[in-house]
Amino acid sequence: KQLFTESAGQKADFLEFLKTPRRIVVTAHQNPDGDAFGSILSLYEVLKQLGHQVHAISPTDHADFLNWMPNVKEVINFEDKLERGRAERLIEEAELIFCLDFSALDRLKDMHTPVKGSEARKVMIDHHQQPEDFADFVYWNVKAAATCELIYCLIEDLDWLSYINQNVATCIYTGILTDTGSFKFDSTSKQVHRIAGELIDKGINPNKISRKLFDQNSFDRLKFMGYALGEKLIYLPEYRVAYFVFNSEEQEKFNLKKGDTEGLVNYGLSIAGVVMSAIFIEKDNLIKMSFRSVDDFSVADFARNNFEGGGHKNAAGGRSNESLEQTVKKFLGLLPDVKDELLVQPT
Ligand code: 5GP
Ligand code: MN
Repeated sequence: KQLFTESAGQKADFLEFLKTPRRIVVTAHQNPDGDAFGSILSLYEVLKQLGHQVHAISPTDHADFLNWMPNVKEVINFEDKLERGRAERLIEEAELIFCLDFSALDRLKDMHTPVKGSEARKVMIDHHQQPEDFADFVYWNVKAAATCELIYCLIEDLDWLSYINQNVATCIYTGILTDTGSFKFDSTSKQVHRIAGELIDKGINPNKISRKLFDQNSFDRLKFMGYALGEKLIYLPEYRVAYFVFNSEEQEKFNLKKGDTEGLVNYGLSIAGVVMSAIFIEKDNLIKMSFRSVDDFSVADFARNNFEGGGHKNAAGGRSNESLEQTVKKFLGLLPDVKDELLVQPT
């Protein structure tokens, strides 16, 4: 656990700064997941209770599976034409901006320009590899399972535990549940379980949160999953690699909405003996990729070195401006280079 990794004095400075009611913006990475929104919405409610004027802004719209979250209606979508002007004004006028669940400014998409330009002090709370140096206050730990775990630790460190009401606890639990793959991933530590226990004491309902997050499939989505697993999953046992490729036509055909391909990449990872799973999705003339791995094979390195991406050792993402065919060809061409690393993994 690391508090304000830059210097020990930062905690006192931070608390001092927050003694005065401030104009605050909380934001997270584009295409927010449960950890990004859990981070935004938990801090939103804690900072409001502390008497600050807080606004939550997301760089892009969010998927429907997050719509049940407490205060989700308060989140301003920076890409919404009707809200853009207000969002820009709030960023410009902010005294403090919380950058949550990302540590590279380009993950804010078009919002990176106003955030970079704002005179607000910046707080970065994150657990992704290779953080950029843009924040005044840093609360970063690559070993944390989720940014929401760090938010809990921060709240604990600052003696704010009494502000964790049921809403805040629900949001923090959502981030932890999302980023540990429901307490499955390697990051599932003793501390993660301890925090989950404390959150249960705050009145959350783990079963309900899990169902709201993961068991709200539309009929279209479930049909699509059948198609994806039945027709689209490719396995290359010689490399221990599985992958899916989806062009825009088939996404239209299945009436796919934002978030409908979320989690699909993990099915590739459930094949016995697999080491890396990938998914390639064509979206607005851009190819978005997700990578997952087991044990020591670092998909963060793989995504960073080859696909302008990054993330965590076992879960990362990237993108490409080339065609879908070219991107997949490039991916397949890279496999012989990493074959030794892929095959050395224990099963
Ligand atoms: P996902 O595949 O679920 O979109 O992302 C997996 C993990 O990698 C998440 O922690 C996400 O924040 C991170 N990630 C996804 N895309 C990118 C990217 O383009 N750049 C970086 N640095 N991280 C990414
Ligand atoms: Mn996260």
